Amino acid sequence: MSQFPVENGELVVGGIPLCRLAARVGQTPFYAYDRGLLTRRVAELRAALPASVKLHYAMKANPMPALVGHMVQLVDGIDVASERELAVALDAGADPREISFAGPGKRDAELLRAVAAGILVNVESFREVPVLARASQALGLPARVAVRVNPDFELKSSAVKMGGGPKPFGVDAEEVPALLAGIGRAGLAFEGFHLFAGSQNLKAEAIADAQQKSLALALRLAGSAPAPVKVLNLGGGFGIPYFPGDTRLDLAPIAASLAEIAQTAAQRLPGAELVLELGRYLVGEAGVYVCRVTDRKVSRGQVYLVTDGGLHHHLSASGNFGQVIRKNHPVAIGNRMDEAAAAAPVSVVGPLCTPLDLIADRMPLPDAQPGDLVVVFQSGAYGATASPGGFLSHPAVAEALV
Ligand SMILES: *Cc1c(COP(=O)(O)O)cnc(C)c1O
Repeated sequence: MSQFPVENGELVVGGIPLCRLAARVGQTPFYAYDRGLLTRRVAELRAALPASVKLHYAMKANPMPALVGHMVQLVDGIDVASERELAVALDAGADPREISFAGPGKRDAELLRAVAAGILVNVESFREVPVLARASQALGLPARVAVRVNPDFELKSSAVKMGGGPKPFGVDAEEVPALLAGIGRAGLAFEGFHLFAGSQNLKAEAIADAQQKSLALALRLAGSAPAPVKVLNLGGGFGIPYFPGDTRLDLAPIAASLAEIAQTAAQRLPGAELVLELGRYLVGEAGVYVCRVTDRKVSRGQVYLVTDGGLHHHLSASGNFGQVIRKNHPVAIGNRMDEAAAAAPVSVVGPLCTPLDLIADRMPLPDAQPGDLVVVFQSGAYGATASPGGFLSHPAVAEALV
């Protein structure tokens, strides 16, 4: 993975050679996120997309407070999915006017906190309207709302579909006019629409197509809105390459399509701002997961490197975070980057008593020894907090922003 340099056979993360970084963190396993790469990613994306498009960070991809603090300096807003994420975003210095809150099961207390904070709530259920109205009344502050629409189309080629057909997310497009009427009657401050069709998509044309359809749908629904549309959140879905054969997302067709969308929006929804909310794409490639080889076993000819880390910290690398077919994430021996692969493929496993705890299944890797450091790349998103840390009661993973 070329985003991290190699010096004297050792991977360098955030300018620090890996063995020294492990000593600095004070333990393995750990996640390390490279500040410079985060900054570069946002700058590259901004350079590629029309300047008028706002970039939000969907912090469920990686809610580490220090990382969120770094992202707040780079992006235009933060999307949160729970009251704890909201607290982290506020503490990190995010402007409440630029925080939005989505989620299919917002509790009453969460909605009250959101209204008190002055953030934008993406309404996903008829039930939320009277709850928000009561919160507005109690606080003397009208709730700022957008409507999350479950679109009447699907995001093609998306690994994780979150819109189209029956979904627990958002309100079905055909029900939205009735919801908008309710929002108007309740006196909530309507600001716009939010559409999020799916995640981890590497096909630019599919993303552009979904964005065009989202605009068309928003234009149709705007006629029923109680106030002008100020914000149109087109979601995200931008994927990153994980597996051999994955090709990097081509931003050019998305940028061209967004330029058209911006032009149409300027005419038909004057004053509305366009927002993309991205998680994985912004942070995924900036992170590594590092664990240490604790044992090397040979079972009937197959070499197993046993490590102190595994699926309890990195469910996705084990292939159990929504993947249909298990494939190896990119893995290396971080202190043997210059060494050739062993003659026979090597498997890397964790300490858990389950065959699911597999980090690398028969991969070409150098033949490592106890003490060596295994690195899983593309680990900056959906890592520590997307893994069952309590399973088998092993020590917790550490995180460092470097
Ligand atoms: C998860 C999520 C995102 C981020 O998705 P990525 O695929 O990580 O970019 C954005 N918006 C909403 C509403 C989400 O639930």
